[in-house]
Amino acid sequence: MALIVQKYGGTSVGTVERIQNVARRVKKRRDAGDDVVVVVSAMSGETNRLIALASEITDTPDPRELDVLVTTGEQVTIALLSMALQAIGCDARSYTGAQVRILTDSAHGKARISDIDDVRVHADLKAGRVVVVAGFQGVDEHGNITTLGRGGSDTTAVAMAAALKADECQIFTDVDGVYTTDPRVEPRARKLDRITFEEMLEMASLGSKVLQIRSVEFAGKYNVPLRVLSSFEEEGEGTLITFEEEGVEAAKISGIAFNRDEAKLTIRGVPDQPGVAYEILGPIGDANIEVDMIVQNIANDGTTDFTFTVNRGEFAKAKAILEQIASELGAREVIGDDKIVKISLVGVGMRSHAGIASKMFETLSKEGINIQMISTSEIKISVVVDEKYLELGVRALHEAFGLDREEG
Ligand code: ASP
Ligand code: MG
Repeated sequence: MALIVQKYGGTSVGTVERIQNVARRVKKRRDAGDDVVVVVSAMSGETNRLIALASEITDTPDPRELDVLVTTGEQVTIALLSMALQAIGCDARSYTGAQVRILTDSAHGKARISDIDDVRVHADLKAGRVVVVAGFQGVDEHGNITTLGRGGSDTTAVAMAAALKADECQIFTDVDGVYTTDPRVEPRARKLDRITFEEMLEMASLGSKVLQIRSVEFAGKYNVPLRVLSSFEEEGEGTLITFEEEGVEAAKISGIAFNRDEAKLTIRGVPDQPGVAYEILGPIGDANIEVDMIVQNIANDGTTDFTFTVNRGEFAKAKAILEQIASELGAREVIGDDKIVKISLVGVGMRSHAGIASKMFETLSKEGINIQMISTSEIKISVVVDEKYLELGVRALHEAFGLDREEG
């Protein structure tokens, strides 16, 4: 007998019929003798609908009240799912985040879980019930309702699994697993049977939006085996996200991630002296703008060029700040480009295989794709290219690294 945490996302509980379908799946697992805790999202579109209601009143809703509002979405689904379970003879009980006591800090809209009280959940499981928990929400030490950030139900599920020491955390979603790349860009993308936490983090942070990033961090930290499965297919093992296994030779490359939301900024002709990087990036950081890649050229005339990438949505704001800095530093000019994308090869096998980077650059050059920036980490090589090359670049790399699905 195992203890399983299952999470169903918005599309999986998008209609009453689908909720009844989830109930049948949960019951099947329960009937097989396992203890089941279910975490659900709001019905698809509901969270957006609630946010839109708030924005009809104000552009700057009070974060505390916004959290009170948006958490109602999940409160609806836990009640409906519990009723659907009871209706088919499966004893079940629902809990909001505050009722479980998923304790968080007070950062409304992006709260972090600090503790989970598992007493009630264990008591219900012992009494033979399925426990249905509202995802995405918690409560702070003053009793205020908080939320964990968009997509936060994944993190609720992993955190519950960690707290309950569950055998597996299963994330049911509208895809049947994690793919080598986005199948909408490369139809020959292949489902992976396994991927490591580290690789999944890179894939997720680069825009493969299968799981909320924080949930993967959490799973890695607490060693919670995490499985992504389709909620619409009965069969299939999905993708298991787990630790790198000793002795098993890792594939060189597990996948190709990309991010369209990129923009780059360059400040040219800044004095090449200590403190300049700080003077440039300090105010950008103070404005809460996240910087990703950073490149500084070598200087030959006492000045240097400094380039970095930011999220496309923050391009205008970052550019205005940089122009201010440029005039203070006496820099030559600020140039920017918000028509760029980032493409990355991800794979733990890179650690033990040489020549991956050169093969990547060769592949892109054969397609006539100019590389604007490069960055590397132990298990990832990223390039910035013009956005018009995104599809071409991803497909060429997918084929070159042998990731294409075998035609059958
Ligand atoms: N309902 C929330 C959202 O749409 C949380 C979740 O679905 O995970 O972001
Ligand atoms: Mg989601």
